[in-house]
Amino acid sequence: MSATTTGLVCAHHHLYSTLARGMPAPPAAPTDFLSILELIWWRLDAALDLDIIEWSAKLGALEALECGTTAVIDHHESPHAIEGSLDVIAAACAEVGVRSVLCYGVTDRWTDDGRLAVHAIRDGTVRRGGVSAGARRGLAENERFLRAGGRGYVGVHAAFTCRDATLEAAAGLAADLGVGVHLHVHEGPDDAGAADRLAPLSSDRWLLAHCVHLPDGHPLRGTVSHQPRSNLNNAVGYARPARFAGERPVVLGTDGIGADMLEEFRLAYVAHRADDVTTGPDPAWRWLQAGADLVPDVAGDAVTWSYEPMQPWHLAFTPGVRAVRVEIDGAVVLEGGVATRVDAGEIRAKAAEAARRLFARLDV
Ligand SMILES: [Zn+2]
Repeated sequence: MSATTTGLVCAHHHLYSTLARGMPAPPAAPTDFLSILELIWWRLDAALDLDIIEWSAKLGALEALECGTTAVIDHHESPHAIEGSLDVIAAACAEVGVRSVLCYGVTDRWTDDGRLAVHAIRDGTVRRGGVSAGARRGLAENERFLRAGGRGYVGVHAAFTCRDATLEAAAGLAADLGVGVHLHVHEGPDDAGAADRLAPLSSDRWLLAHCVHLPDGHPLRGTVSHQPRSNLNNAVGYARPARFAGERPVVLGTDGIGADMLEEFRLAYVAHRADDVTTGPDPAWRWLQAGADLVPDVAGDAVTWSYEPMQPWHLAFTPGVRAVRVEIDGAVVLEGGVATRVDAGEIRAKAAEAARRLFARLDV
């Protein structure tokens, strides 16, 4: 039995974190969301170079394709390898055959002399001052990539690691280029006040990842990207995305934990159900499908699955459904569950080598 659908969209990914699985334990056990960022993710992104980014992106794109995800909306950061990083990711996705919509997440969390400004983030003084050198480089990478015809957003990490001047510069650049801003919003309690700072700058083109702690009725504009697995993993709470119905579109992303969107749909459903026993899987299914509004080209992609029917009341209770064949832009890029344009075995081997190099950098 099989059924064919259009391609799925992962509407918030971090391809740079594909190699993080199995990474060495952090120097201390994180006790809250900010220390998870500080001890894990901000150490990982600081260790990236362009070669590691390339293999991380190729493996992430391959795994997306194998899950019938034909478009990835990525949010990238690599503070010691900024220039050209978006080209590397775009080329990696194109080689595998997956559509990509990219951005570089600008931030002021690094001081101009290269230290992590953790105290300024914790006490809120990071807001003050002009755009930092690192944020200027990030803005330039977004601008360079987009002006050269790259598809994407202007990226911002999150308001709580950014100066007001940087948020204004990012919003202004996005408006000039006719795109939105893609950023983390109220993911954890540390981002309190973010929506008030961002609302005057925001537009309907913005992509707002998480919104777990976004106050009800807030006028911040944009599409909400919901990441149920990541939110559980970081113990930040449940976003209750159903509360945005009628106010803002809601889409689903993985926040870097693969790109299996049927799996993320199942989690979105069961998280919703845990909060409201009267709900069914239809709202989570609509969030999954709304990803196509952000990357309309996926309507022309065709994914043949190992199961039928591809309907929410079936799929919510049917783990393990696999993509068998994928056609993107008229070309068959997966046949019999195997990528056709690239050697999956080689990508996995090279990615494992890059992961060993990345982990060695984390140990020093
Ligand atoms: Zn994220």
